[in-house]
Amino acid sequence: MPAKASDIQKLLPESGKKNCKECGLATCFAFAMKVANAGISLEKCTYLSAESKAQLEDMLRPPISLVTIGQGARAVVIGDEEVMFRHQKTFLRPPGLALQMADTDSEEAVAAKLAKLAWQMERLEKVSRFDLVALKCSSGDSKRYAALVQRVMAETDAGLILLADNADCLLLAYEASKARNPLVCVTADNYLQVASRLDKSAAVCARAAGLEAAADLAGKLLELGLENLVLDPGSASLADLVRDQTMIRRAALQHKFRPLGFPTIFFAAAAASDPDRQLLLAVAGIAKYAGIIVLDDVSPEAFQVLLMARQDIYTDPRVAPTVESKVYSFNEADQSAAVLVTTNFALTYYAVAGETENSKLPVYLLCQDTGGLCVLAAWSTGKFVPETIAEMVKKQAVADKVTHKQLVLPGYVARLKGELEDELPGWEILVGPREAADLPKFLQELKKRRDSAA
Ligand code: SF4
Repeated sequence: MPAKASDIQKLLPESGKKNCKECGLATCFAFAMKVANAGISLEKCTYLSAESKAQLEDMLRPPISLVTIGQGARAVVIGDEEVMFRHQKTFLRPPGLALQMADTDSEEAVAAKLAKLAWQMERLEKVSRFDLVALKCSSGDSKRYAALVQRVMAETDAGLILLADNADCLLLAYEASKARNPLVCVTADNYLQVASRLDKSAAVCARAAGLEAAADLAGKLLELGLENLVLDPGSASLADLVRDQTMIRRAALQHKFRPLGFPTIFFAAAAASDPDRQLLLAVAGIAKYAGIIVLDDVSPEAFQVLLMARQDIYTDPRVAPTVESKVYSFNEADQSAAVLVTTNFALTYYAVAGETENSKLPVYLLCQDTGGLCVLAAWSTGKFVPETIAEMVKKQAVADKVTHKQLVLPGYVARLKGELEDELPGWEILVGPREAADLPKFLQELKKRRDSAA
């Protein structure tokens, strides 16, 4: 819950009644309103006492801190979530996905994982990929570990997660990579040696066995002035994962419990060795609040499942997913291509596009802008009607793209056929199947009909 302007005002000079205007605003209340909306810095009021400033900073701090790992376009920003459940609003910051490698891995294994860090998937007009690489020191040799860190930095711009029990290994790797803003993972055994040598702005992961131990370590790191924290309660099973993540989020959002008010990391790689099990845990982590998820390895199929799950969970449920409203070409569409029309609801588009590709026949697909409504919903609200379809056919000059004049309507709106023929004189309106799965067969039959008529 954001801080209220009235509560902020009470902590301003003379209980918010000084109204000296030196901050550039007409009243203290106007200043309080701007502070509540993050539109002005507290520094602008030079009369604030240190005590009031500290109180205000505490009041304005989000219940789950915002933490950035990495740099530039591939930086991962996690935390600052506002709700327990997606239907209450939306989940804001997709978890960072990380691949793990160790300094004892073979050359081939490291090269294969580096190649996977470059994999990309484009869906719903967004390109996604793995964001981070978790580098584990298994050798205990600081130079060998630093060499892996250097190599990974040279070959990928993914963010880094540094994992080493030995403080010297961790510090050498941190020095080599701090320009990349890595996430440095510490434990109760090594934090005292490591924490004092880190920049105060460093991103630090508190790794522990259990929630209490993680909260305890986070508290100690806070006392040392490190505030960009990530929590790892060491969840070792699906049940642990769901319990730990739920308790952390509830403690942060509902009880404002500061030692747990941080984003989290989940090591699926440590909780399961079987790749399918790891994938299951990772998807559960996506759905259940994990801020970063670390996997040992992924197949191309698992890669797609992970990225799709992340995109679906972190899509605003209040906004229908859409694709651009335009004419899409499939299978080298030429002047003989069949012309289909549907709406720009993303799920409809992907179902139709997939089956159209499967047909191996040339097709133009017109996606009319319905604000992301599916065919029936758009028809019932007057957004996918003969007038709007005809307007798109004319606007996109579809008649110039093909030598025939046949347009295929979705089967669910067969009733529009007559009126659409009135709107598009000279066009033959055909009724396609109701389900996208029946499109390949329909398109084959349409082609046969055309060939025999020719
Ligand atoms: S400078 Fe401070 S005291 Fe003066 S009006 Fe602004 S908020 Fe109020």
